[in-house]
Amino acid sequence: MSEPLQIRTDNGVFLECVRGDITAQPDMDAVVNAANAELRIGGGVAGAIHQAAGPELYAECRPLAPIRPGQAVVTGAGRLPNKYVIHCLGPVYGLDQPSDQLLAACYRNALLRAEEVQARSIAFPAISTGAFGYPVREASEVTFSAVAKELPSCTHVRHLRFVLFSSSDLEVYTQACQAAFQ
Ligand code: ADP
Repeated sequence: MSEPLQIRTDNGVFLECVRGDITAQPDMDAVVNAANAELRIGGGVAGAIHQAAGPELYAECRPLAPIRPGQAVVTGAGRLPNKYVIHCLGPVYGLDQPSDQLLAACYRNALLRAEEVQARSIAFPAISTGAFGYPVREASEVTFSAVAKELPSCTHVRHLRFVLFSSSDLEVYTQACQAAFQ
């Protein structure tokens, strides 16, 4: 089983890969929701976030829906212990094409939204790798390549945490993060 990974990038940004629950990251300014197009409660990450945040989150989401694959929108965080939720619609693997570019756009747009609200820290789940069927290794490679491209433009974001639900996903994301940044 892999240990949590911690890396300081050349831009001075602190990157971590940890095993955990995206709703239990109280030290982060923003958490990312692996949302559905309607920004509804749903299952997986979206279900957990809406359940923890309460109905005020869905009320804030409603006027922003629907969103397209690759898009990201920001709201408050309801009863979650964070300031913001950044809702990203990942691609359904093989259906929303090109899936790699749409997944990369999720991470790029999430970082853009975080910069707009001047968030310093942001926690991501493994977008698209659950119900949307993206193979975990491919998703991890796309993720860190997109993050590496976008980080040099970030001035507010100083801390990124990738929160993986299983130890096998943690291992794969850790390897991809090391390959991209070390
Ligand atoms: P998508 O529809 O984008 O595939 P899912 O929510 O179905 O999103 O799953 C994305 C990933 O998040 C999967 O690897 C899943 O195991 C994981 N996951 C599910 N619940 C949580 C949670 N509470 N915290 C962190 N990761 C989670």
